[in-house]
Amino acid sequence: MDKKVRVRFAPSPTGGLHLGGVRTALFNYLFAKKNNGTFVLRVEDTDQTRFVEGAEEYIAACLNWCGITPDESPANPGAYGPYRQSERKPGYRKFAEQLINDGYAYYAFDTPEELDAKRKEVANFQYGQTTRMQMRNSLTLTLSEVEDLLAAKTPHVIRIKVPENEIVHFNDAIRGDVSFDTSLVDDKVLLKADGMPTYHLAVVVDDKAMEISHAFRGEEWLPSAPVHILLWKYLGWEADMPQWAHLPLILKPDGHGKLSKRDGDRLGFPVYAMNWTDPKTGDVTKGFKELGFMPEAFVNMLALLGWNDGTDQELFTLKELEEKFSVDRISKAGAKFDFEKAKWYNHEWIKSQSAEKIAPQVAVELKNAGIEVSNQPLLLTVIDMIKDRCTLLPDFVAQSSYFFATPSVYDINAVKPKWTPEKADFFTAFAERLTLADAASEEAAFKALAEEKGFKPGELMLPFRIMLVGGKFGPGVFDIAVLLGIEETKDRITKASIAFSA
Ligand code: GLU
Repeated sequence: MDKKVRVRFAPSPTGGLHLGGVRTALFNYLFAKKNNGTFVLRVEDTDQTRFVEGAEEYIAACLNWCGITPDESPANPGAYGPYRQSERKPGYRKFAEQLINDGYAYYAFDTPEELDAKRKEVANFQYGQTTRMQMRNSLTLTLSEVEDLLAAKTPHVIRIKVPENEIVHFNDAIRGDVSFDTSLVDDKVLLKADGMPTYHLAVVVDDKAMEISHAFRGEEWLPSAPVHILLWKYLGWEADMPQWAHLPLILKPDGHGKLSKRDGDRLGFPVYAMNWTDPKTGDVTKGFKELGFMPEAFVNMLALLGWNDGTDQELFTLKELEEKFSVDRISKAGAKFDFEKAKWYNHEWIKSQSAEKIAPQVAVELKNAGIEVSNQPLLLTVIDMIKDRCTLLPDFVAQSSYFFATPSVYDINAVKPKWTPEKADFFTAFAERLTLADAASEEAAFKALAEEKGFKPGELMLPFRIMLVGGKFGPGVFDIAVLLGIEETKDRITKASIAFSA
């Protein structure tokens, strides 16, 4: 019988969550949903030196924002807890010792100074098959020496003994058969001097304990795979090993190398899902959320970085992705990140949403800009009028603030050089005759009056727009006027005429 599908997203809480991390979480989540499985969040915090306060809560918040909430996690434990590796610490040593007893691992007592000296002596030193017999470990010391050192509580680590000249094979759901020559693999530390496992031991022990059936993770973990495969085998658990799936890298926009946070800083786009505040320095790194991305658009964009459904369709809801996701449509090749394309997704998502759906988010943006909207029907009408012009959520502020407050500045240079007393007279007359029954009839009246006064209507349209909006943007100017109403339109005409004439 097939194993029940259980997948895990296993981040280390070390700082901001890179969009590649979110994509890994997303693909795990989609696979779980597609197969009625369980999506687990496991916090891999065994490296105490890299632990960052608040990072775990932040990761959980990012997943929540994206709508890919885990079924089991530290905050919502299932039957396989604890879900933080640091809390599982007592369970790892016995497996490291089992490996020693079976001849697959050994104690290493080399001090940091000894290791440093060796690194100086041997270029590109690696602790492994060519060097292990020159070091101070249970392979080179006698049994009684080892026993004495252990009895004296001498600091030590446990290392895997990688076999010589073997080819390690495994099946990757994306890459097919993958093989590694063990002569290129070093003897990784499995258990550290502080008794904590390293990632390599913990990931295997926990995938087994948590009955993980499939492991989607970034391609950057591929070089570690042979160590993991050997451990699965050496611990006698090969039959339970998860199906591996190494996701293609997310590349820099020019395709050269993996996208890093530094690329985002350099090129001016976010790389983290949400704002990340470094607890030590207080530095804030901007995230997609705070820049004004909708979570639906962010998730949609990520899904298409390395996956497609075999058609040209680019816009998917999370529900659709849950139904359509399939591993065989994940590409092997790295996916270039394109910020313009990311914005395109957001724009498409904004356009496709009903005003009701996005009104709360728009209201937050307006509030942040100091605009309190009490008239909900007006807000909905405005959203419908301008959403096609908004790419990021804060664009709603620039595109709509004039509906809620009289412009305080005008693009005066666009009007002033051609402004004349005759034009001012035209607007006075026009203001008096305003009916604003509907945009089309008001436009016709405007044009008729312009012609009557000897103007080409075109020369008056721009000043009118700037009177109402403040700048050269926005939807149809007569639509705007109708929404503002007679009083407000008149007031704006009067106020702006004075400013233009000054
Ligand atoms: N803790 C690893 C990380 O930070 C997990 C890698 C894996 O999924 O095996 O990404």
